[in-house]
Amino acid sequence: MKKVFVAGHRGMVGSAIVRQLEKRDDVQLVLRTRSQLNLSNQQAVADFFNTHDIDEVYLAAAKVGGIVANNTYPADFIYENLMIQCNIIHSAHKAGVNKLLFLGSSCIYPKLAEQPMLESALLTGTLEPTNEPYAVAKIAGIKLCESYSRQHQRDYRSVMPTNLYGPHDNFHPENSHVIPALLRRFHEAKLNNDPKVVAWGSGKPMREFLHVDDMAAASIHVMELEPEIYEANTEPMLSHINVGTGVDCTIKELVETVARVTGFKGEIEFDTTKPDGAPRKLMDVSRLKSLGWEYSFSLEQGLEDAYEWFLQNQHDFR
Ligand code: GDP
Repeated sequence: MKKVFVAGHRGMVGSAIVRQLEKRDDVQLVLRTRSQLNLSNQQAVADFFNTHDIDEVYLAAAKVGGIVANNTYPADFIYENLMIQCNIIHSAHKAGVNKLLFLGSSCIYPKLAEQPMLESALLTGTLEPTNEPYAVAKIAGIKLCESYSRQHQRDYRSVMPTNLYGPHDNFHPENSHVIPALLRRFHEAKLNNDPKVVAWGSGKPMREFLHVDDMAAASIHVMELEPEIYEANTEPMLSHINVGTGVDCTIKELVETVARVTGFKGEIEFDTTKPDGAPRKLMDVSRLKSLGWEYSFSLEQGLEDAYEWFLQNQHDFR
């Protein structure tokens, strides 16, 4: 039985990892809420690792938010993320934890990175300014893992997900990402018998989407790869692994699929006064494929699952 600490188990990815590890009989989960363990507090995190004999850490704790939050509170985003990562990675090492998986984000790549984005695009260009402080913290997380692996022979790995969606997503009507925003808007339009739903932008940008249960499965897969296999497919100073489907679609196709899944029969209009954002964001996932993992949810199946979760939990939203 191994003792596994999932940091951030109340978040979208952390909770998905917990749902899968709970089914395993070789795993004893160790979970702490924010009030039980403040991950920004160095001493508290060190005490935690020194008193629990942890075997593996999934570092899914992070301060996350949309473009507005990132732009308004840049200090909070860089400070909290750096503190959480430094405290967990350093204390885990000091306490003798040999296996750790750090979860990053595709925003670590340069704004103008060639598409699809390879792992080697890291640190080759200027980042998107709106979330640069957050991205710099995530890049530091990758480099922390690599540095402890190189200097102390730890087995600390990182995975970089594409756009995620699914249970425990943020369904805020304005501040959320496109999938939860649309699921909610189409659902409400159907209930109100509205003749029309408005989506943002031109509908032409292309995005890749991954269901969070696939992300959790990929994370566990990468964590549990034999060290020789992981090492043979990565480099000591280029060790992170992209996680995505490798398939993208236009926002127009996404909007039509959301309409189908929610059962909205009316008209769809694109509001071109709203921003499109990047023209395309797609991960190159050949590294992950060569390590024996592929996604399982099609976009339509994934949206059905996310919609089901929304229907069952919408009354609990703040
Ligand atoms: P991005 O991937 O960082 O651009 O994040 P978003 O998930 O916010 O937006 C992705 C794309 O979906 C952009 O082209 C948006 O213009 C488009 N989009 C269409 N409708 C919506 C909506 O209701 N909310 C959001 N957030 N994006 C939308």
